[in-house]
Amino acid sequence: MKQSLSPTRDEVDHAIRQAAALIRRSNHVVALSGAGISAESGIPTYRGPEGVWTRQGEPTIDGWDLFNSDPELWWKLAIEQNDTELAHAINVASPNPGHFAMADLEQAGYLQHIITQNIDNLHHRAGSKRITEIHGNRSLVRCMNCGARDRLETLSLVRLPPLCPECGGIMKNDVVMFGEPIPDDALVTCYRQAAMADLFIVVGTSAVVYPAAEFPIMAKRRGAMLVEINPFETDLSEIADVVVRAKAGEAIPAIADILRR
Ligand code: NAD
Ligand code: ZN
Repeated sequence: MKQSLSPTRDEVDHAIRQAAALIRRSNHVVALSGAGISAESGIPTYRGPEGVWTRQGEPTIDGWDLFNSDPELWWKLAIEQNDTELAHAINVASPNPGHFAMADLEQAGYLQHIITQNIDNLHHRAGSKRITEIHGNRSLVRCMNCGARDRLETLSLVRLPPLCPECGGIMKNDVVMFGEPIPDDALVTCYRQAAMADLFIVVGTSAVVYPAAEFPIMAKRRGAMLVEINPFETDLSEIADVVVRAKAGEAIPAIADILRR
């Protein structure tokens, strides 16, 4: 992670005004959000100075293989490991002003879609409606056969693995694991939104996980404008038209305030 560029207050305020002006004159605004937007809700990011992986190292990535070879054991381990640092933080988190301001922007007609890499359900809880959770949602389960989703809390875990009430297929937590294909419905929506966007707001993501990082790049190649909101530099900073070097919980409410006037 590169150093913050430590902009002055005036520079940040100027970037916030520029971002608001771009949003005002755009027709189809899509946001790509990442772990950083939930950092102010107390959920640690993976990467970045305070990231879980920065502090503890990256986890082994054999979960998808295990699920395929022994779904019963995978479920037992998943139930046992429901209290990792990230899981606990998500369990107790609430949406922050950044999430609420994004819901306000949607409500006011300034934001047409959110593609989120987050699994924490906080955009939904803040009131956003048009959301694609490209890496799934931790509070849901998904049938690996027909793709049906249901709330985790309504699923009986007496017999493992749980089976789909619709088709009898094996259910898995909706979170997309390393190596697991992204569900088709989510991917199709993301490509469609990237094709429609004339402005992409990239907020709180290190933009290194693909294909998520590809959508703003695709839109930019087609001529869309790009706004980045992140206190630190990322791989997308260089191609962004406006960079707001501030926390999401400060920048997005400030942008929404300007647009309300
Ligand atoms: P990341 O951890 O790779 O990067 C986080 C980014 O957020 C960094 O660029 C950092 O500078 C920035 N950031 C930190 N605090 C911020 C703030 N207050 N406001 C704005 N930006 C801030 O996260 P990623 O790019 O989303 O990708 C990693 C993967 O991690 C995703 O697939 C996601 O599923 C998963 N993840 C999700 C959660 C969650 O659901 N809340 C939490 C951790 C990881
Ligand atoms: Zn099914």
